[in-house]
Amino acid sequence: MKCKWEFGDCKCYRYTDDVSQYCLFHRKFKSEKEKKIIANIFDGNIEAGDYLWNKEEKIYDFRGIIFNQNVNISNIKISDLNKKACFDFSYAVFNKNVYFDDYKFYSDVFFVNTKFNQSTSFENCVFIRNCTFDKSEFVNTKSRSIFCMSKFLGQEFVFKNISNGVKFDGIRFSVNTKFILENVGYDKNRYIDARNAYRIAKNQSNIIGDYEESGKYYYKERLYNGKMISPPIEDGSKGKKYHKYIFSKIMDLVSKYIVGYGEKPQNVLFFSFILISIFAYLYMLVGIRFNAYIDCTMNYHRTIEYSFLDILNLDFKDFINDYFQAWYFSIVTFTTVGYGDIIPINYKGKILASIEMFLGVTVIATWTSTVVRKMSR
Ligand SMILES: [Zn+2]
Repeated sequence: MKCKWEFGDCKCYRYTDDVSQYCLFHRKFKSEKEKKIIANIFDGNIEAGDYLWNKEEKIYDFRGIIFNQNVNISNIKISDLNKKACFDFSYAVFNKNVYFDDYKFYSDVFFVNTKFNQSTSFENCVFIRNCTFDKSEFVNTKSRSIFCMSKFLGQEFVFKNISNGVKFDGIRFSVNTKFILENVGYDKNRYIDARNAYRIAKNQSNIIGDYEESGKYYYKERLYNGKMISPPIEDGSKGKKYHKYIFSKIMDLVSKYIVGYGEKPQNVLFFSFILISIFAYLYMLVGIRFNAYIDCTMNYHRTIEYSFLDILNLDFKDFINDYFQAWYFSIVTFTTVGYGDIIPINYKGKILASIEMFLGVTVIATWTSTVVRKMSR
């Protein structure tokens, strides 16, 4: 009879004649003798192939195994014949330390829904083909860089849907490996690891020429960089340092929301629309004059000047009509076109228009540069 263990579309291939209907690895209650067999497999005293080689799927099958002892993968006796197979650690739980150090994986390796509850290390590992971490949990990786000096030579290294991200310092990739870092969270005190992780992903995307991805990672890198800006620690000489903090925080917020760190030109458009609309309303308050010219002579002119309260008492249709005119004047000023059919009538209006022209020139330049930046890649 086949073992009853299954998880999603994962099934256990092993046969069992135990009353629990589970195989040696998946049954809950094990005799001392069975525990000893398992310990011997992971300590390398018995050939592991008889227990872990999955003939049907041609994989080394560690799926759903709960490891209650320290594991060093190099110790496990794997025959040369099966060494080049795919290794699957999906749904496995490592309750003690696990070391993959110096191990060479010849084929794909999977860690889907794998839990690492204690110290974990992949130092100096070589992944010749793809490696996937998806929904894996790292509980106790702390500040250690678990992939230090590891080499990824395959098409892809996937690291996604992980709530407690790890440090990637010292990781190495071949020039064609795609590093996919997606939906990975980091704690507040580990923003620097997050920043560096996205920086590594960005650089790797640039190396393989995936500029679309590179832009996304660049945005994330800047985002975490911004989160790292924190107020200076009180040490008596705060004055100057505090200015510096506020300045860099404001610069960060501006580049985050207005230009999306250079990655979101649509933010600039939206911001321009808001600015033009606000200025239009301000022009209505300070007063503007419409001039209508026909045959080079002024045939008609009308001045509008609202007070704050007028909006409440006024006919809505008239207000919208005048607001539309003011909006038109605002966009003509913002883009520094200046037809002259509508003009400011006093100093307040002229000052406002000057400010808007200056903002317009700056924002339009920003818009142009973000679009060019995105398109030229
Ligand atoms: Zn089983």
